[in-house]
Amino acid sequence: MPAGEPEDDERSGGALVTSPAGRVRKIIHIDMDAFYASVEQRDNPELRGKPVAVGYPEARGVVAAASYEARKFGVHSAMPSVTAKRKCPELIFVPHRFDVYRAVSRQIQAIFAEYTPLIEPLSLDEAYLDVTENLKGMQLATEIAEEIRARIRAETQLTASAGVSYNKFLAKIASDQRKPDGLFVITPKHGPDFVQALPVKKFHGVGPATAEKMKGLGIETGADLKSRDLVFLQQHFGKSGPYFYWIARGIDEREVKPDRIRKSIGAEDTFREDIHELEAARAGLKPLIDKVWHYCEASGIRGKTVTLKVKWADFTQITRSKTIIAPIASAAEMGEIVELLLSPIFPPAKGIRLLGVTLSSLDQVDDRSEPQLALAL
Ligand SMILES: [Mg+2]
Repeated sequence: MPAGEPEDDERSGGALVTSPAGRVRKIIHIDMDAFYASVEQRDNPELRGKPVAVGYPEARGVVAAASYEARKFGVHSAMPSVTAKRKCPELIFVPHRFDVYRAVSRQIQAIFAEYTPLIEPLSLDEAYLDVTENLKGMQLATEIAEEIRARIRAETQLTASAGVSYNKFLAKIASDQRKPDGLFVITPKHGPDFVQALPVKKFHGVGPATAEKMKGLGIETGADLKSRDLVFLQQHFGKSGPYFYWIARGIDEREVKPDRIRKSIGAEDTFREDIHELEAARAGLKPLIDKVWHYCEASGIRGKTVTLKVKWADFTQITRSKTIIAPIASAAEMGEIVELLLSPIFPPAKGIRLLGVTLSSLDQVDDRSEPQLALAL
């Protein structure tokens, strides 16, 4: 599990040099389309359909993001504003609003968190999700990715593209294949071939300087890279050598590392009609307990603290917690603790709008021992 793992250079983990483990993972890379520029076009209808650059037009200004209309003129992020203006004279510059982008980022993170706690953000608008095990118990990562894209569109009026694959490297490449507003899947069967055909400068982890150096060594495609042995790659690229060696084969064992150590696993539900009866509250909590417990079982994580959250019809809320000495060992046990927290609030003075169950004081009790055999992405 990522929590507590020693930090190392993400391209040089020792695990990459040894042969890859057998477990098939389901990784999604979500990437918002032309993020800052799209937010500006969303909030100002006059900018829609027009070439927009987020940034300042001053002599030393740099484009922070370009709308798709601007990209058609060859304008892209990190380009000097002067160059951008020359390429596209009608380019509209708008100042950035990072507070708004951060707020949208929190919205999409909240959507991700409903599916998995294993979220590794790369920036405000991009993240890896490990959904091999997920809070919804869904089999297909592709279905999860489509749901997430639909939710992002509904809740933010913005589009995101998704890449689905069996490792981070390929998921990131996949999200780029059908932009904007697209989804692409790279299966274990096609991964190695897919990499062969790609130019190495498209690889995550190969920056412009490395791409130049590779070109000098006659390496321009994945196939070129694959034809070089590990010793050669280590000689020329040091610690990154093994990473390049394995990605050329479609292999990348890097874990999805959440930026925060996971502190809780939770599920909640807003009811169509406010709840007043204890029986109805129990019925509403049952699937939430099952969801949390399923995730515990699948991930080998256990917890000692159960928290019940109650949001009332007037939107005020309370939480009630109980911590036990030994980690909770079953859904039934979690249900009993929830019951202890729930029954004292009945009969309630007002209707219940939402109930939530969260497990915290977490510990990893075992490794995920059995490899998942569900190969479909
Ligand atoms: Mg993006």
